[in-house]
Amino acid sequence: MATKNFNAFEMAQAQFDKVAEQLELDLATKALLRQPLREYHFSIPVHMDDGSYQVFRGFRVQHNDARGPGKGGIRFHPQETVDTVKALAMWMTWKCSVVDIPLGGSKGGVICDPHNLSLREQEQLCRGWVRQLSKDVGPLRDVPAPDVMTNAQHMLWMLDEFEAINGAKYPGLITGKPIGMGGSLGRTEATGYGVIFTVREALKEHNIKPENTVAAVQGFGNVAQYAIELFEHIGGKVICVSCWDQEDQISYTFKKKDGIDLKTLLGITDRFGGINKIKAKDLGYEVLPGDKWIEQEVDILLPCALENQVTADTVTKIKPSVKFIAEGANGPTTPEADKVIQEKNIFIIPDFLANAGGVTCSYFEQVQSNMNYYWEKDEVLSRLDEKMTSAYLKVSELARQRKLYMRDAAYVIAIKRVAQACKDRGWV
Ligand code: NAD
Repeated sequence: MATKNFNAFEMAQAQFDKVAEQLELDLATKALLRQPLREYHFSIPVHMDDGSYQVFRGFRVQHNDARGPGKGGIRFHPQETVDTVKALAMWMTWKCSVVDIPLGGSKGGVICDPHNLSLREQEQLCRGWVRQLSKDVGPLRDVPAPDVMTNAQHMLWMLDEFEAINGAKYPGLITGKPIGMGGSLGRTEATGYGVIFTVREALKEHNIKPENTVAAVQGFGNVAQYAIELFEHIGGKVICVSCWDQEDQISYTFKKKDGIDLKTLLGITDRFGGINKIKAKDLGYEVLPGDKWIEQEVDILLPCALENQVTADTVTKIKPSVKFIAEGANGPTTPEADKVIQEKNIFIIPDFLANAGGVTCSYFEQVQSNMNYYWEKDEVLSRLDEKMTSAYLKVSELARQRKLYMRDAAYVIAIKRVAQACKDRGWV
């Protein structure tokens, strides 16, 4: 979310400008890519349960669709701003491009707090969002998905409205649908597993065996849980995780020197990824302050919670033992911290590459929906491994060849592909 001093879109543009300079993009291409292609702002009137009417503001931003239909989530949030949505749409363009899936970048949002809305009111909001955009989204145009505070039920209401308007079935309109109603197996695991597919490849390139590595994780939600599962499966050890404590309104780190036990920890975790601290103590975990995860004597750091965590302040606490950082979260590292990480020679797997497993699996969902034929989970996950591995290897190869920081190498690949697509279509 945008705060007073932080404008996500300005940051996204600054990141783009830096790489555009390196790539020596021409003025027209730069002008095209530093702004969204299209931006929709609209009002959604909702007949509330108490008989009153409320009008909500909605957005959809289509940053670029030169490589294929737009792809991106819809966020329900009281502090949503169009600049945040614009930044996220741009990042989606680069994310789809770096993993080389034939989709562009979009994002949407509604300013609302679903906690204060009944299910019926949320349904009206979802249907209203689609009514405003039914001509401008679609399987061949722009494909929405769940995001902050939206879920599979919201997606199904949106699909149902779109199909009612268009008089036919279009399961490829939207992803994140419930399993059995057009959803893909493997989506739950996809982002966390994707992070570890890239970590596995990075270790291989550095001739390090996963069984000789130890990791510290920030977060214990969807991404972190599945990242830990696969990391342990390939032989690695995780000694701590951290999470937000709803009751105390602070975060804690849960540490076990000999390695956490994922299964028992999951047994004392709520659906928001919050661990019960009293039960954790009983199970022998040290309960430390929330920021301690970054200070551990480990080989790998996995920030999998939220943005703005590895900062100018916290980066100095990273121990010399740390050789890798794989960003499961979006935007966990600030540009100032990036400089220090580079100086310390820590190998970073940047967010829009490391966590692209989610969108890659959403793409698989769309493919399956368009075919109306659904794959087994193993097939989804092995295709995911293939895509993530190949994307990682292209980025690391470029980084080696051109002596680039991994984040810059990923941006170079992603932006170059999109710029080329715009050129090939004769847009600029
Ligand atoms: P989630 O809501 O399931 O879990 C978030 C976890 O972070 C929870 O365990 C929560 O307690 C913890 N947390 C929150 N604030 C914290 C703090 N201050 N300190 C420590 N821990 C804290 O979310 P998720 O789906 O796992 O997503 C995590 C990150 O990954 C987000 O940045 C998200 O944008 C990004 N991401 C998620 C997906 C996906 O498919 N889920 C895909 C791409 C990127």
